[in-house]
Amino acid sequence: MPLLQTEAIRALELALGKPQVLASAEDLQLYMYDGGVDKALPDAVVFPRTTEDVVAILKVARIYEVAITGRGAGTGLSGGAIARSGGIVISFARMNRILDLDIKNERAIVQPGVVNLDITLAAAPYGYFFAPDPSSQRACTIGGNVAENAGGPHTLAHGVTTNHVVYLEAVLANGSIVEYGSKESDSPGYDMAGLLTGSEGTLALVTKIGVRLMRNPEAVRTMLAIYNSTDGAANTVASLTAKGIIPVAIEMMDGPMIRLVETATRAGYPMDAAAVLLIEVDGLIEAVDEQTWLIKEVCYHCGAREVKVAESEEERALLWKGRKNAFGAIGRVSPTYYVQDGVVPRTKVAETLRAIEEIGARYGIEISNVFHAGDGNMHPILPFDPRKEGDLQNAQKAGDEILSFCLSVGGSITGEHGVGMEKMEMMNHAFPPVTLDLIKQIKNLFDPQCSLNPGKVLPTGIGCMEIRQRPELII
Ligand SMILES: Cc1cc2nc3c(=O)[nH]c(=O)nc-3n(C[C@H](O)[C@H](O)[C@H](O)COP(=O)(O)OP(=O)(O)OC[C@H]3O[C@@H](n4cnc5c(N)ncnc54)[C@H](O)[C@@H]3O)c2cc1C
Repeated sequence: MPLLQTEAIRALELALGKPQVLASAEDLQLYMYDGGVDKALPDAVVFPRTTEDVVAILKVARIYEVAITGRGAGTGLSGGAIARSGGIVISFARMNRILDLDIKNERAIVQPGVVNLDITLAAAPYGYFFAPDPSSQRACTIGGNVAENAGGPHTLAHGVTTNHVVYLEAVLANGSIVEYGSKESDSPGYDMAGLLTGSEGTLALVTKIGVRLMRNPEAVRTMLAIYNSTDGAANTVASLTAKGIIPVAIEMMDGPMIRLVETATRAGYPMDAAAVLLIEVDGLIEAVDEQTWLIKEVCYHCGAREVKVAESEEERALLWKGRKNAFGAIGRVSPTYYVQDGVVPRTKVAETLRAIEEIGARYGIEISNVFHAGDGNMHPILPFDPRKEGDLQNAQKAGDEILSFCLSVGGSITGEHGVGMEKMEMMNHAFPPVTLDLIKQIKNLFDPQCSLNPGKVLPTGIGCMEIRQRPELII
C-alpha cells in the first residue's frame, strides 16, 4: 500500500475536522506500538466520534487505497493494533460513551472506546457487573476486547467476551453499516456477532456493542492456597474440575512471580512459596460456604501447606490487586518482557510448567508464570533487554518452543491475546490447510481488497501480504 499522500490527509481533515487527525512524525511515533514487542509507523491517526465518521474514513481509505487498522487502548499483546504496512490507524478513544444502561433487561449499549472497567463501574450502583475482566481492564477498551475475544480471571465460570456480546454494529470495508445480533433477544440465523468477535479487526470495524450485564452474587469468597511445589498447585486445578467443582476464578503464580508481586504490591503473598492459587467462588451464601470447605479439602489433599480465606473486602481486593498488577511488577527486574499466551488441557498444567522451566534454562532466561490456571491458559513471562543484541530474538525463540509444547499436548497457540502479527505463521501448525482456506474465504467476503488490518491472523501465502520478517524493533 502506498504512503498516505498529503491530499488524503486533507480529505481526512475535511471529513472529521483537523483536531481529529494526527499526521506529524512526533505524533505518529506514539501509535507505532501496542503492549507486544513489534512496531511499525502509521501514516495518519484519526479519532472518529460517530459511526458516520468511521464510514467517512473508510471512504477516504478506499479512494487512496490505504490500509486501515483499528485501535482501542493499545494494550494488545500480539501486535494487533499496529499498522504494519502503514496507512490509517483509527483510534476509538473518542467513541467512549455508554449509550444505554438498560438494567431492567440486563443490557448495556456502548461505543467501542469505552474502557472495560467503566461498564462495571456504571452498572455497580444497580447491583450489576460486566463479567469479562482482563487483567488490563482499567485501560483496555470493549472494542479491543471484542476484537480479541478477551478473557480474564473470572471467565472460567462466566465465559469470555463472546458469551457476553449480544449485539454489534460494525462498518464493513466498503463503508456499509451492518448490525448483527439483537439488543433485546436472541436473533435467528448465523451467529454473525460471534463471527466478528475474535476477528481481530480484520473483517469489520465495530462501532457499537450490546453487552450482557450480570447481577452481583449474594456472596463471594476468595482463597489463597499456598504450596511448596508447583506440581501441588497444578494438580489442585485438575482435581477441582475432576470433582465437578468450578470456582469463578483459579489463578496461579509461581515462586519467582510471587516474589516480584509481593515486593511491588505488599498484597500478602508468602515470599518463600513455590506457587499460590488464588481461588474465588460466588453464589448463594450456603453454596459458597460448602464450596469453600470442599475446595480447602482438595487443596490440602494436593499438598497445600496453608489455605487462607480473605476475611474482609479489603483483604480480597488486596489479593486481586497483587494478581492484576503482576505484569507491572516485572518492571522491577527487567526493562521489558515478552509475554506468551498458550493453552493446554488442565491436566497438563504441571508438565507444561516443567517444560517451560526446562526451556527457560536452555535459553538462559528466568521465566516467571502468572496465569489463568483454571482455563489452562498459560502466560509465561520472558524478560529481555532490548539494549542487548539478540536478546529479544532469544526470548521469541524460547516462546515459540513453549507454544510448540502447548500444541504437542493438545493445546492451542493463544488463549486470549490473539494471533495478530505475532503468531500468524503458527496458524499453519494450529490448523489444517482446508480450515485456513475457509477462513481466508470469509476474509475475502468481508474485505476483498484486504484493507482491514492486513498482515494479521492469516499466515504468509494465505493472508493479505507476503510479510515474513518481524519489523525491526525500534526502542
Ligand atoms: C498488563 C496486561 C494484562 C492483560 N491481561 C489480559 C487478560 O487477562 N485477558 C486478555 O484477554 N487480554 C489481556 N491483555 C491483552 C489486552 O489487554 C487485550 O487483548 C485487550 O482486549 C486489548 O484491548 P485494547 O483496547 O487495548 O485493544 P488494542 O490493543 O488497541 O487492539 C487490539 C485489537 O483490536 C482491534 N480493534 C480495536 N478496536 C476495534 C474496533 N472498534 N473494531 C475492530 N477492531 C478493533 C485492533 O485492530 C487490534 O487488532 C493484557 C494486556 C496487558 C498489557
